[in-house]
Amino acid sequence: MTAPLIDPFARAITYLRVSVTDRCDFRCVYCMSENMTFLPKKDLLTLEELDRMCSTFVRMGVEKLRITGGEPLVRRDIMTFFNGMTRHLESGALRELTLTTNGSQLERFADQLFAAGVRRVNVSLDTLDDQKFADITRWGRLPQVLRGIDAAQRAGLRIKINAVALKGFNEEELPRITEWCAERGMDLTWIEVMPMGDIGNENRLGQYWSLKDVRAEYEKHYRVSDLAERTGGPARYVRLEETGQKIGFITPLSHNFCESCNRVRLTCTGELYMCLGQEDMADLRKPLRDHPESEKPLEDAIRAAIGLKPKGHDFDYSRQTVDGRMSRHMSHTGG
Ligand code: SAM
Ligand code: SF4
Repeated sequence: MTAPLIDPFARAITYLRVSVTDRCDFRCVYCMSENMTFLPKKDLLTLEELDRMCSTFVRMGVEKLRITGGEPLVRRDIMTFFNGMTRHLESGALRELTLTTNGSQLERFADQLFAAGVRRVNVSLDTLDDQKFADITRWGRLPQVLRGIDAAQRAGLRIKINAVALKGFNEEELPRITEWCAERGMDLTWIEVMPMGDIGNENRLGQYWSLKDVRAEYEKHYRVSDLAERTGGPARYVRLEETGQKIGFITPLSHNFCESCNRVRLTCTGELYMCLGQEDMADLRKPLRDHPESEKPLEDAIRAAIGLKPKGHDFDYSRQTVDGRMSRHMSHTGG
């Protein structure tokens, strides 16, 4: 173990989110355009390189790894990578190995993920209506995802549902989605839609629905109490007294959460983004590939990058762009 990663604002970096592919079997309208150009294979970190990269972060104090994408479970042989990370769970260096998925491949992978040491999974699901699901994901089919969720629960994985809040799209489904999660013992988090990437010129199938309004909607149906819980991220939680359910709200636009940020994001090409809302990044692939025999140059590059982690992001007051809008897709940095 080397010295822990501490950024210039005294925040310890203990959480790494890793995008293992930019590809996906869905084309969610707020995330991708229908015709995406994906990265050439040679630009992607190989599974061995991903292992080396993550293992270096773990040695430097990262305790939680979240695997994301694109859709992480469409990356060929991805279980080789998960199985490799199991050794860090077994050594105690890593406290949690988890993933964010659209659920389409969970039926196939749930047991293997559990065997690799995964205990919790975030599944992104915005609607329980077959047609709306097909509309919002363009290529996805709801029954396949529901079978995946069933398989994951049978395997013993705890599920949290992440739903993007879209006005006029899933607004009236709020009670149904909430009850469905309660019946199945799943937590639920609403995400405010963010201005990420060029998603083509199709209709947006819904618009920005402020989570203040989502919360107000809950207050019409339930007694809502605030929870003090913080995870170092953008989520805030409430409890619904009637069901005992914990509901999360991720509000990157209307709430500033940067002061407690403990995370950085690695793309599938080895770029390290120190902040989801800033364009600044460091190339870690070069020190990794140029020095196959030594981890020191990679460690030095990671430490230098963390030294540049900004204090906060500006979706709402621009630094780099006119309106704080990000040019890269969510599937690039992994959300
Ligand atoms: N494919 C996986 C999935 O959908 O869970 C993992 C990657 S996806 C980019 C991660 C999360 O980002 C998903 O929960 C998705 O809903 C969310 N997301 C994508 N585009 C977004 C946007 N423009 N605003 C807010 N959330 C977005
Ligand atoms: Fe794919 Fe996830 Fe983006 Fe949807 S949100 S297109 S499932 S990466």
